[in-house]
Amino acid sequence: MNLYHTKDKYLPCEHCHRPFSKPRLAGHVANCDKKKEETVCPVCGELCTTRGMINNHLNNLHKVIQCEICGQQVTGAKNYNSHKKKSHTGSWPCQVCGKVFKSEYHLRTHGIR
Ligand SMILES: [Zn+2]
Ligand SMILES: [Zn+2]
Ligand SMILES: [Zn+2]
Ligand SMILES: [Zn+2]
Repeated sequence: MNLYHTKDKYLPCEHCHRPFSKPRLAGHVANCDKKKEETVCPVCGELCTTRGMINNHLNNLHKVIQCEICGQQVTGAKNYNSHKKKSHTGSWPCQVCGKVFKSEYHLRTHGIR
């Protein structure tokens, strides 16, 4: 380790891209405002640039949501929405009595005795 050889070398902060001399860079990075805004998803490791983004990301992709209609657990708001569309909208006529249900779930539980 010889700092004299690097003292005139300026390196950009990888977060805010401002240049710092090498000895100062580490100190800056620890307090860099841009870095504080960056958050890595603890689940998939995707880099989100703001806290708001990580909340959206977690909510859309990783949050486990229990379906209020059938009780099935679905991961991510996006999947949950498509689950509801797929399983709980439209008409599901009973093959036995012809009664029409608004979801596959209601049709299934209708058949259970
Ligand atoms: Zn910085
Ligand atoms: Zn993720
Ligand atoms: Zn459901
Ligand atoms: Zn029926």
